[in-house]
Amino acid sequence: SDRPRPLVAGNWKMNGTRASQAVVEAVRDGLDPALAGRIDVLVCPPATLVGAFAQALAGSAVRVGGQDVHAAASGAHTGCVSAEMLADLGATHTIVGHSERRADHHETDADVRAKALAAHRAGLIAILCVGETRAEREAGRTLDVVRGQLAGSLPDGATAAATVIAYEPVWAIGTGLTPTAADVAEVHGLIRRELAARLGEEGARIRILYGGSVKPQNAAELMAVPNVDGALVGGASLKAEDFLGIAAAY
Ligand code: PEP
Repeated sequence: SDRPRPLVAGNWKMNGTRASQAVVEAVRDGLDPALAGRIDVLVCPPATLVGAFAQALAGSAVRVGGQDVHAAASGAHTGCVSAEMLADLGATHTIVGHSERRADHHETDADVRAKALAAHRAGLIAILCVGETRAEREAGRTLDVVRGQLAGSLPDGATAAATVIAYEPVWAIGTGLTPTAADVAEVHGLIRRELAARLGEEGARIRILYGGSVKPQNAAELMAVPNVDGALVGGASLKAEDFLGIAAAY
Protein backbone atom coordinates (compact mmCIF):
# COMPACT_ATOMS: atom_id res chain seq x y z
CA SER A 1 0.00 0.00 0.00
CA ASP A 2 0.94 3.67 -0.13
CA ARG A 3 0.69 3.97 3.61
CA PRO A 4 3.90 5.32 5.18
CA ARG A 5 5.90 2.82 7.21
CA PRO A 6 4.53 3.03 10.76
CA LEU A 7 6.63 4.32 13.64
CA VAL A 8 6.03 3.33 17.26
CA ALA A 9 8.00 5.65 19.54
CA GLY A 10 8.35 5.58 23.32
CA ASN A 11 8.80 8.78 25.31
CA TRP A 12 10.21 7.87 28.70
CA LYS A 13 10.05 11.49 29.93
CA MET A 14 12.13 12.02 33.12
CA ASN A 15 12.15 8.35 34.06
CA GLY A 16 14.89 5.75 34.08
CA THR A 17 18.34 4.98 35.41
CA ARG A 18 21.09 2.70 34.15
CA ALA A 19 19.15 -0.27 35.55
CA SER A 20 16.37 0.54 33.07
CA GLN A 21 18.57 -0.75 30.26
CA ALA A 22 16.93 -4.12 31.01
CA VAL A 23 13.70 -2.67 29.61
CA VAL A 24 15.17 -1.72 26.23
CA GLU A 25 16.99 -5.04 26.08
CA ALA A 26 13.64 -6.77 26.60
CA VAL A 27 12.13 -4.66 23.81
CA ARG A 28 15.08 -5.52 21.56
CA ASP A 29 14.89 -9.24 22.31
CA GLY A 30 11.10 -9.45 22.28
CA LEU A 31 10.52 -7.60 19.00
CA ASP A 32 9.24 -10.06 16.41
CA PRO A 33 11.57 -9.90 13.35
CA ALA A 34 8.60 -9.92 10.96
CA LEU A 35 7.10 -6.96 12.82
CA ALA A 36 10.46 -5.18 12.78
CA GLY A 37 10.41 -5.61 9.02
CA ARG A 38 7.14 -3.70 8.80
CA ILE A 39 7.48 -0.89 11.34
CA ASP A 40 10.08 1.40 12.91
CA VAL A 41 10.52 1.17 16.68
CA LEU A 42 12.13 3.96 18.71
CA VAL A 43 12.85 4.56 22.40
CA CYS A 44 13.46 8.11 23.68
CA PRO A 45 14.98 7.88 27.18
CA PRO A 46 16.36 10.81 29.17
CA ALA A 47 19.53 12.24 27.63
CA THR A 48 21.57 10.58 30.39
CA LEU A 49 20.73 7.15 28.95
CA VAL A 50 20.92 7.80 25.21
CA GLY A 51 24.55 6.70 24.89
CA ALA A 52 24.23 3.46 26.84
CA PHE A 53 20.96 2.54 25.14
CA ALA A 54 22.40 3.23 21.69
CA GLN A 55 25.23 0.83 22.48
CA ALA A 56 22.86 -1.82 23.82
CA LEU A 57 20.63 -1.53 20.75
CA ALA A 58 23.39 -1.28 18.13
CA GLY A 59 22.72 -3.68 15.28
CA SER A 60 19.11 -4.21 16.37
CA ALA A 61 15.91 -2.87 14.83
CA VAL A 62 15.26 -0.55 17.79
CA ARG A 63 16.41 3.07 17.43
CA VAL A 64 17.22 5.60 20.17
CA GLY A 65 16.19 9.24 20.29
CA GLY A 66 16.22 12.33 22.47
CA GLN A 67 13.25 14.13 24.00
CA ASP A 68 14.35 17.70 23.26
CA VAL A 69 17.30 19.61 21.82
CA HIS A 70 18.65 23.14 22.10
CA ALA A 71 18.51 25.12 18.87
CA ALA A 72 22.25 25.80 18.93
CA ALA A 73 24.96 23.24 18.22
CA SER A 74 27.09 24.29 21.22
CA GLY A 75 27.78 27.29 23.40
CA ALA A 76 26.90 29.10 26.62
CA HIS A 77 23.64 27.28 27.42
CA THR A 78 24.14 25.68 30.82
CA GLY A 79 22.25 22.45 31.30
CA CYS A 80 21.15 22.07 27.68
CA VAL A 81 21.88 19.32 25.16
CA SER A 82 22.32 19.87 21.43
CA ALA A 83 21.14 17.75 18.53
CA GLU A 84 24.78 17.21 17.55
CA MET A 85 25.49 15.80 21.02
CA LEU A 86 22.60 13.33 20.75
CA ALA A 87 23.69 12.31 17.26
CA ASP A 88 27.22 11.80 18.58
CA LEU A 89 25.81 9.28 21.08
CA GLY A 90 24.03 7.32 18.37
CA ALA A 91 20.58 8.89 18.49
CA THR A 92 18.71 8.94 15.20
CA HIS A 93 15.62 10.94 16.24
CA THR A 94 14.51 13.57 18.67
CA ILE A 95 11.14 14.74 19.92
CA VAL A 96 10.64 18.52 19.71
CA GLY A 97 7.79 20.66 20.99
CA HIS A 98 6.29 18.13 23.39
CA SER A 99 3.43 19.77 25.29
CA GLU A 100 5.35 19.38 28.55
CA ARG A 101 8.18 21.42 27.03
CA ARG A 102 5.75 23.98 25.63
CA ALA A 103 4.07 24.31 29.05
CA ASP A 104 6.92 23.85 31.54
CA HIS A 105 9.56 25.70 29.54
CA HIS A 106 7.36 28.19 27.70
CA GLU A 107 8.48 26.97 24.29
CA THR A 108 6.82 28.86 21.45
CA ASP A 109 6.12 27.63 17.94
CA ALA A 110 9.17 29.63 16.80
CA ASP A 111 11.33 27.88 19.41
CA VAL A 112 10.04 24.50 18.30
CA ARG A 113 10.72 25.34 14.67
CA ALA A 114 14.31 26.26 15.56
CA LYS A 115 14.68 22.96 17.41
CA ALA A 116 13.34 20.99 14.45
CA LEU A 117 15.85 22.78 12.21
CA ALA A 118 18.60 21.93 14.72
CA ALA A 119 17.59 18.27 14.59
CA HIS A 120 17.77 18.33 10.78
CA ARG A 121 21.13 20.13 10.85
CA ALA A 122 22.50 17.29 12.98
CA GLY A 123 20.97 14.57 10.80
CA LEU A 124 18.26 13.62 13.29
CA ILE A 125 14.62 12.88 12.47
CA ALA A 126 12.46 15.48 14.24
CA ILE A 127 9.24 14.25 15.85
CA LEU A 128 7.30 17.49 16.11
CA CYS A 129 4.43 17.51 18.63
CA VAL A 130 1.20 19.49 18.38
CA GLY A 131 -2.08 19.27 20.27
CA GLU A 132 -4.83 21.20 21.97
CA THR A 133 -5.55 21.63 25.67
CA ARG A 134 -8.83 20.60 27.24
CA ALA A 135 -9.98 24.23 27.38
CA GLU A 136 -9.16 24.69 23.69
CA ARG A 137 -11.11 21.56 22.75
CA GLU A 138 -14.08 22.60 24.85
CA ALA A 139 -14.03 26.00 23.17
CA GLY A 140 -14.20 24.31 19.76
CA ARG A 141 -10.74 25.57 18.83
CA THR A 142 -8.95 22.24 18.28
CA LEU A 143 -8.47 22.53 14.52
CA ASP A 144 -7.41 26.19 14.69
CA VAL A 145 -4.89 25.44 17.44
CA VAL A 146 -3.35 22.47 15.65
CA ARG A 147 -3.25 24.35 12.33
CA GLY A 148 -1.53 27.28 14.02
CA GLN A 149 1.03 25.12 15.84
CA LEU A 150 1.86 23.29 12.63
CA ALA A 151 2.14 26.50 10.62
CA GLY A 152 4.46 28.02 13.21
CA SER A 153 6.65 25.08 14.12
CA LEU A 154 7.09 23.06 10.93
CA PRO A 155 10.18 24.24 9.01
CA ASP A 156 9.92 25.07 5.31
CA GLY A 157 11.38 22.32 3.18
CA ALA A 158 10.76 19.62 5.80
CA THR A 159 11.14 16.17 4.25
CA ALA A 160 9.30 12.96 5.00
CA ALA A 161 12.59 11.22 5.71
CA ALA A 162 13.52 13.71 8.45
CA THR A 163 10.15 14.79 9.84
CA VAL A 164 7.36 13.14 11.81
CA ILE A 165 4.34 14.91 13.27
CA ALA A 166 2.82 13.71 16.56
CA TYR A 167 -0.73 14.76 17.36
CA GLU A 168 -1.00 14.67 21.14
CA PRO A 169 -4.10 16.21 22.71
CA VAL A 170 -2.78 17.61 26.01
CA TRP A 171 -5.85 16.35 27.91
CA ALA A 172 -5.18 12.79 26.71
CA ILE A 173 -1.56 12.66 27.93
CA GLY A 174 -1.18 10.52 31.02
CA THR A 175 -4.89 10.66 31.80
CA GLY A 176 -6.23 7.40 30.36
CA LEU A 177 -8.56 9.52 28.22
CA THR A 178 -8.44 9.30 24.42
CA PRO A 179 -10.33 11.13 21.70
CA THR A 180 -12.86 9.13 19.69
CA ALA A 181 -11.66 7.54 16.46
CA ALA A 182 -13.71 10.16 14.61
CA ASP A 183 -11.98 13.00 16.48
CA VAL A 184 -8.54 11.53 15.76
CA ALA A 185 -9.49 11.11 12.09
CA GLU A 186 -10.60 14.75 11.89
CA VAL A 187 -7.37 16.16 13.32
CA HIS A 188 -5.06 13.79 11.42
CA GLY A 189 -6.96 14.62 8.23
CA LEU A 190 -6.44 18.32 8.88
CA ILE A 191 -2.71 17.76 9.50
CA ARG A 192 -2.42 15.72 6.29
CA ARG A 193 -4.09 18.47 4.26
CA GLU A 194 -1.89 21.16 5.82
CA LEU A 195 1.25 19.11 5.12
CA ALA A 196 0.20 18.58 1.51
CA ALA A 197 -0.58 22.28 1.09
CA ARG A 198 2.81 23.28 2.52
CA LEU A 199 5.01 20.54 1.11
CA GLY A 200 3.12 18.89 -1.76
CA GLU A 201 3.94 15.24 -2.48
CA GLU A 202 6.49 15.24 0.32
CA GLY A 203 3.80 16.24 2.81
CA ALA A 204 1.68 13.27 1.80
CA ARG A 205 4.49 10.97 2.94
CA ILE A 206 5.22 12.53 6.35
CA ARG A 207 4.19 10.20 9.14
CA ILE A 208 1.57 11.46 11.58
CA LEU A 209 1.61 9.71 14.96
CA TYR A 210 -1.15 9.73 17.53
CA GLY A 211 -0.10 10.15 21.17
CA GLY A 212 -2.03 10.29 24.43
CA SER A 213 -2.86 7.27 26.61
CA VAL A 214 -2.04 4.69 23.95
CA LYS A 215 -2.18 1.22 25.53
CA PRO A 216 -2.03 -2.33 24.15
CA GLN A 217 -5.85 -2.45 24.43
CA ASN A 218 -6.57 0.64 22.29
CA ALA A 219 -3.60 0.61 19.88
CA ALA A 220 -5.28 -1.42 17.12
CA GLU A 221 -8.34 0.82 17.07
CA LEU A 222 -6.19 3.96 16.89
CA MET A 223 -3.93 2.52 14.18
CA ALA A 224 -6.96 1.74 12.04
CA VAL A 225 -7.85 5.44 11.86
CA PRO A 226 -7.01 7.03 8.48
CA ASN A 227 -3.76 9.07 8.52
CA VAL A 228 -2.58 7.50 11.79
CA ASP A 229 0.91 6.27 10.91
CA GLY A 230 2.00 5.12 14.34
CA ALA A 231 2.03 6.07 17.99
CA LEU A 232 3.97 8.20 20.44
CA VAL A 233 3.71 6.36 23.74
CA GLY A 234 4.46 7.78 27.18
CA GLY A 235 3.59 5.73 30.26
CA ALA A 236 3.11 2.42 28.47
CA SER A 237 6.60 2.65 26.93
CA LEU A 238 8.19 2.12 30.33
CA LYS A 239 7.15 -1.54 30.37
CA ALA A 240 8.59 -3.74 27.62
CA GLU A 241 5.50 -5.95 27.53
CA ASP A 242 3.12 -3.01 27.07
CA PHE A 243 5.34 -1.26 24.52
CA LEU A 244 5.72 -4.50 22.51
CA GLY A 245 1.97 -5.05 22.81
CA ILE A 246 1.34 -1.65 21.24
CA ALA A 247 3.90 -2.29 18.48
CA ALA A 248 2.21 -5.61 17.72
CA ALA A 249 -1.00 -3.76 16.87
CA TYR A 250 0.67 -2.28 13.76
C1 PEP B 1 3.42 11.56 25.81
O1 PEP B 1 3.69 12.27 26.75
O2 PEP B 1 4.03 11.72 24.73
C2 PEP B 1 2.36 10.57 25.96
C3 PEP B 1 1.71 10.19 24.89
O3 PEP B 1 2.09 10.10 27.23
P1 PEP B 1 1.04 8.94 27.68
O4 PEP B 1 1.16 7.82 26.67
O5 PEP B 1 1.49 8.53 29.04
O6 PEP B 1 -0.31 9.55 27.67
